[in-house]
Amino acid sequence: MTDRKDELAANLAKVEDRIAAACAAAGRAREEVTLIVVTKTYPASDVRMLSELGVRHVAENRDQDAAPKAAECSDLPLAWHFVGQLQTNKVRSVVGYADLVQSVDRSKLVTALSKEAVRQEREVGCLIQVALDAGASERGERGGVAPGGIEELADLVAKAPGLRLDGLMTVAPLSGEYAGRQQAAFERLMDLSTDLRRAHPAANMVSAGMSADLEEAVAAGATHVRVGTAVLGVRPRLG
Ligand SMILES: *Cc1c(COP(=O)(O)O)cnc(C)c1O
Repeated sequence: MTDRKDELAANLAKVEDRIAAACAAAGRAREEVTLIVVTKTYPASDVRMLSELGVRHVAENRDQDAAPKAAECSDLPLAWHFVGQLQTNKVRSVVGYADLVQSVDRSKLVTALSKEAVRQEREVGCLIQVALDAGASERGERGGVAPGGIEELADLVAKAPGLRLDGLMTVAPLSGEYAGRQQAAFERLMDLSTDLRRAHPAANMVSAGMSADLEEAVAAGATHVRVGTAVLGVRPRLG
């Protein structure tokens, strides 16, 4: 193996140990939690090595980086998750490669995604991104809809041709009542997921937790963790 592949394998093993330990501590089966590796800012060659090492889910947050990478890796058995704030003018490109969009946070985006999914004859899984730091009817600083806006948006996704409502996503807030309280934030997301599943039982994905707080997410009940730095290293630039 190359040095880089050795490094990625060692990092993946450490993350796997952390997820397994967190599952054991929470009395959950390891299979209940899916690892999504966030490959943003890292090259397609890393994505290819991760695939060879058994990774099946990758995530990106900027279409400009993600589109060429996904094209270069289109032969690999990977599910691509889009997790960044998404402008409607990027929707056509994103629908071309994304299996799931985790950052659905406004009706205009739902309409655009649906139209494009139908046009490209694709089915796109959608997670509603929840901003736990947003005021009642606002959106969060890093995207996301306030909890009060979930139901309306979820109903819209569920009815939209070409889209599939898969669940909820959040990023632990840096400000507001949940700042520094990741586990409380993720438990709140779980409660919101329980509410959502009353009307939409199949929308059972709960995407929460990153390199620094995946244990808290697993403890709270997350089904998907999104891990970048702990697998690939500290990113050379903000992303
Ligand atoms: C970058 C990013 C991650 C991964 O963060 P790390 O701290 O590098 O693990 C997870 N989720 C989203 C939405 C991201 O943008």
